[in-house]
Amino acid sequence: MAEGITDFLNPTYELTFQDLFIPDKLLQLNIKFEKYFQTVNPEKFNEYFKYKTSKGNGYKESEISEILIFTSKIISDFLAELFNITGELNAIKNETLREKIIFLFKKEFIQRLVFKKYKIEDLEKYNFNELNDFVKEIKLVCYNNFLKDKNEDDEFNTALIVMEILEIAKEFRWFYEGDKFAPEGFEISERIKKCGKILIEDLKKKNLLNIEDENEALKQIVEKLAQWSFVRYYKDDTVNNWVSYKEPHKIDFENLVKFKRPDEEFNELITNYENHYRYREGFSLNDYQRREKDILSEVDYCMYCHEREKDSCSKGFYDKLGNKVKNPIGVTLNGCPLNEKISESHYVRKEGYPLASLALITLDNPMCPGTGHRICNDCMKGCIFQKQEPVNIPLVESSILKEILKLPYGFEIYSLLTRWNPMSIENPERKNFNGKKIFIVGAGPAGYTLAHYLLNEGFKIKMIDEIEIREVFKNYIENNKPVKNYFEEIYEDLNYRFSLGFGGATEYGITVRWDKNFLNVIYINLLRNELFEIESGKKFGRDYTVDQIWNDGYEHIALCVGAAKPNDVKVKNRDAKLIYGSTEFLSDLQIKDAINPAKDYLLKVKLPGIVIGGGLTAIDCSTELLNYYPVFLEKLFSGKDYNLNISEEEMKIYSEHYELIKNEKKVAEVENRKPDLVNLLRSIGGVKLVYRKRINDAPSYRENHEEIIECLEQGVDIVELFSPVEFMKDSEDNVSAVIFEKIIVEKDETGKLKFRNSGEFEELHAGTVVIAAGTNCNDIYNDEHPGTFEINEKTGYFELYNPSINGNITLQKNELGRKAVFTSYNKDGKFITVYGDSNSTFYGSVVKAMASAKFGAEQITKILS
Ligand SMILES: Cc1cc2nc3c(=O)[nH]c(=O)nc-3n(C[C@H](O)[C@H](O)[C@H](O)COP(=O)(O)OP(=O)(O)OC[C@H]3O[C@@H](n4cnc5c(N)ncnc54)[C@H](O)[C@@H]3O)c2cc1C
Ligand code: SF4
Repeated sequence: MAEGITDFLNPTYELTFQDLFIPDKLLQLNIKFEKYFQTVNPEKFNEYFKYKTSKGNGYKESEISEILIFTSKIISDFLAELFNITGELNAIKNETLREKIIFLFKKEFIQRLVFKKYKIEDLEKYNFNELNDFVKEIKLVCYNNFLKDKNEDDEFNTALIVMEILEIAKEFRWFYEGDKFAPEGFEISERIKKCGKILIEDLKKKNLLNIEDENEALKQIVEKLAQWSFVRYYKDDTVNNWVSYKEPHKIDFENLVKFKRPDEEFNELITNYENHYRYREGFSLNDYQRREKDILSEVDYCMYCHEREKDSCSKGFYDKLGNKVKNPIGVTLNGCPLNEKISESHYVRKEGYPLASLALITLDNPMCPGTGHRICNDCMKGCIFQKQEPVNIPLVESSILKEILKLPYGFEIYSLLTRWNPMSIENPERKNFNGKKIFIVGAGPAGYTLAHYLLNEGFKIKMIDEIEIREVFKNYIENNKPVKNYFEEIYEDLNYRFSLGFGGATEYGITVRWDKNFLNVIYINLLRNELFEIESGKKFGRDYTVDQIWNDGYEHIALCVGAAKPNDVKVKNRDAKLIYGSTEFLSDLQIKDAINPAKDYLLKVKLPGIVIGGGLTAIDCSTELLNYYPVFLEKLFSGKDYNLNISEEEMKIYSEHYELIKNEKKVAEVENRKPDLVNLLRSIGGVKLVYRKRINDAPSYRENHEEIIECLEQGVDIVELFSPVEFMKDSEDNVSAVIFEKIIVEKDETGKLKFRNSGEFEELHAGTVVIAAGTNCNDIYNDEHPGTFEINEKTGYFELYNPSINGNITLQKNELGRKAVFTSYNKDGKFITVYGDSNSTFYGSVVKAMASAKFGAEQITKILS
């Protein structure tokens, strides 16, 4: 038994923490939930039960949404009781409801009465000091007489006062003028009458108002408040982060990234739009902190399109003929590949139910820690707002998960929702062991998601990965110790986090822009399962062959091996030292922990750095190279011997740079400011990302232009329309420069862009080069064991098939474009499926890898049952 408290659950439910992992007990949990539901809301329970027993047949999508919404709130209340967190959840709900006033203020006042009425040209007409004095007095009267709910937040207080005065003014107007919206026989309430009179009298006494007519006086008060709010927007920095002033920007697809071309002679060079750069703290989580209010602002902006069955963020954006729409830069608006219930989850979050929201999210996306903010944006691209900024759905999703993880036993609540969710009609709870074993190769998003689904179906899973996976959090895994406080017990500062080795490219590739602690969550949750086994440092092909796996009694093999075989830049002197492939570079930083001050490993780099490529991997390599350099120097001069081959001349330069950095840090400390390492690093060479087309043509621009903005903000420069033709070496065989040919972009007669070589060359000095020119399907096993799989000659991906179950199982070649996971392998009734980045119908992103697993798990379950 684990140390610490294990039976922290509400005794009324007669379940222990350990019971929550046993399928039969989960069944009991479900029965208890239904009883609870029936007691608290018999009418809604009957609706839910009817839906469940009919398996959703005959229901309209909007009707299902409605049922899921009320059921999710009941799940939230039930779990709150089970985990004794009703108080905590009520506090969140109350806070959400309190903050609603801010969004009302935004809609009714800022948008309607301020920005619609006043124009920037009129700004100087208003005397800000006078308006401030006027409002100061209003605030005083309100607080002295009729408003109590004041807090530290100026935005909240302002919203409260303005909304109260709007209400007073409205009732006076109805009373004196009548209004089509006023109820029949409308009578002004005594309270409002009193408040209005106090306000008017006070302002008159202070000579701030001189109108006799009460109705007109109140109109003038509202007008002055509007003028004050308008001027404040331009003249008062303290409102810069007010959500009520936040307006969605229009989207200009041709100019998604704002940048500067600072050098007329070097027009291909692009730098950050602003002159200042964003300071980044080494390899700690590199992301802005958001307040709860910012998240609620996104939720408030959502139109809850499920009500009209138009939630394109989830289902995709269709035209009138039922075809999926492409946006102006050619991205098909598929929506969330997992069809997450986004709209519904926003709706319940707005009402103050984050746990209900998480229950809705996990219904389709149980591995949600692996998705979300700074990872995926298919949903955002599909959002109904196509001409203006979309709702920041991934930010909301990740924040909701964090809100729950912050609660006592929040980790365990999330974990429970991955194996029990009464909203799932087919699989409300994990099943018992079904006697069958499945072998999964690869612990990336495809592998861990597939393992999750198959474990819930009752399969035993063995997973291997060629990367060494650390054995950590043992007490939580082997002894099933409950995680009470995730942020104290599990969370690690990314700067000092040793690589887990788990999570495939999300661990070794995607950088600290994303919170890798989410991988810890998935890792513990998966490894706790008794039917799950992982063997790391084992390579499919070398340590395990297909026949061996069958001999070990497995019924199925799933290849979740990601992409491999990087595209190279095959030009002269490619063998120069300090030219790295992106996988090698990022893995050395993140898997071998070169970035970790406590780890005895260093990867040699020099500035200036050049990264060749235009995808997200290139973006990540460029920011990491820039930020790794100071860490590299710090470790190099720490006194440890890293066994690097460094010449005297190089050492001299390193030493100079190290002194500069040390000095800047010292000066910054004395001046009580953050060190300006970005400008310093730029002055000693910096990092350039070089792409052979225009930045607007780059895959990163189409897929996630926000990351280009972040990259420029961090001080990386971009050079577009440069194609590498030769590397130059120094006397030590290190790369010293790259020669590029300039590329000319033209439009052909149909308006299509054409790129042609110009015959003009330019040399860029380089101390390190990282090549990030894309990777291809991982069919290395087939190279080592030819003939095991059919590989499509054109695409290089596995040829795909669909199983046909007709007594026995046969494979039918996949039609072009349809989703499929079966390879051509079919021997003695045994099959091999392929997922994620190695599957031509799912490759390219984390969420697509997960979607492949969700899709494949269903098919495997079918053929093996
Ligand atoms: C730098 C970088 C940035 C990225 N940024 C984003 C992003 O912002 N958003 C996004 O959605 N996607 C991003 N991606 C892509 C995303 O990470 C991948 O699409 C996703 O991880 C694919 O999942 P997967 O499970 O198919 O493969 P992987 O994550 O690659 O996992 C495959 C696993 O299989 C293991 N393996 C491979 N061969 C063998 C073998 N023979 N034997 C045993 N084990 C083996 C590997 O070690 C690895 O752990 C990025 C990728 C990189 C490299
Ligand atoms: S996120 Fe966008 S598409 Fe989805 S429900 Fe909200 S507004 Fe509609």
